[in-house]
Amino acid sequence: MNKLLYIAHTEADGTISDNSLEALAAAVKIKQDLKLSLSVGVIGSGAVEAANSISNCGADDFYTVSGAAFTVSRYATDAAAVEAMVKKTEPDIVLGFGTVRFMRSVPGAAFRCGGRIDTHISGISTEDELLVKRWYYRQRMEATLKREQRPWFLLLDKGVFEPFQGEKAEENADGLDIEVSDDMQDTAVSGLEMPEGGSQTIKPDAELLFVAGAGWTKKQADGQPDLKEAENIILQTLERSKASLGSSKSLVDLNAEGEQVLKFMSHLNQVGQTGATPRHDKGLATCCHGEEPHVVGWRFIKERRAVNTDANCGWAQGKTDVLYIADAFAVMRKLNELLAT
Ligand SMILES: Cc1cc2nc3c(=O)[nH]c(=O)nc-3n(C[C@H](O)[C@H](O)[C@H](O)COP(=O)(O)OP(=O)(O)OC[C@H]3O[C@@H](n4cnc5c(N)ncnc54)[C@H](O)[C@@H]3O)c2cc1C
Repeated sequence: MNKLLYIAHTEADGTISDNSLEALAAAVKIKQDLKLSLSVGVIGSGAVEAANSISNCGADDFYTVSGAAFTVSRYATDAAAVEAMVKKTEPDIVLGFGTVRFMRSVPGAAFRCGGRIDTHISGISTEDELLVKRWYYRQRMEATLKREQRPWFLLLDKGVFEPFQGEKAEENADGLDIEVSDDMQDTAVSGLEMPEGGSQTIKPDAELLFVAGAGWTKKQADGQPDLKEAENIILQTLERSKASLGSSKSLVDLNAEGEQVLKFMSHLNQVGQTGATPRHDKGLATCCHGEEPHVVGWRFIKERRAVNTDANCGWAQGKTDVLYIADAFAVMRKLNELLAT
């Protein structure tokens, strides 16, 4: 094994995202530890400038694919661009970040190149040979894998490496010309629409995870539950903070039991042992007891805070950096006021 190809696509502003720069940091480590040659391939609008911006990464050569057809995320054109880069550089390993765009197109490119692909890579080891890690069974088992088949395509998950600090060192990107047939453009991309906030609530790229627990539906100090108010507060928080919404199991289970619940919650929001294990820089748990089967889903949340009226709740057992003993309704109302300014 002696050749590695790092692939990235540009974002709408023509830059390479921090997530893709994490994958570049992985590529540089593999190159250095296993003494491989590194090629870089960048696709999309502004690809030449973007390739120049990481030209200090130690790659031997840089290739770009740009032009109107490659500005948008589309299977046919993206797969053709990756295939062309692989055929040009003949790598043993092809490595990139698992963006939506690459998760859709790179498996097809791997097939066309006679390779194999592994996605959701959560770690690498480079002691004597390249081994990669990924989770199975909802992140309960971590496997370490190697493959004989080449080229071996790898798409990384977020949070495995610090983003590579790119700098412009030289300008030597080679543009690859790819013939774009009408067939390849059968799918016309008219634009992207994504919710900025509000009730479309699961946002893997958000900085903050906001978790709501069953306490939001329970009787409060006045002896009554106040579901409407709970919904208003939570939706306003999501709208203003752009946080991703997580839930405890108890809260989403209430839904299945036909009880009055928060309308926008579903099992997809559930965090924990039998739910998701999201990755965010910060997390705030509200009205949630912090029991182990829930908190185990927080293992990739770097900075944790919780608000609970009970000083003996699970979060107090060393599971959070800061626990506020307070009424979450009052705290979140105040926070929403501050977020509005
Ligand atoms: C096999 C198994 C798997 C499980 N998997 C999961 C899982 O994946 N995810 C998960 O979440 N759970 C899971 N559970 C359930 C878990 O053990 C807990 O029962 C659940 O997390 C409790 O949810 P909760 O904290 O929202 O509710 P509760 O335990 O009812 O806690 C509500 C909290 O809200 C607080 N509160 C009430 N009003 C306010 C207020 N005004 N301000 C502030 N705080 C307030 C209360 O003090 C209380 O601590 C699992 C359990 C088992 C047995």
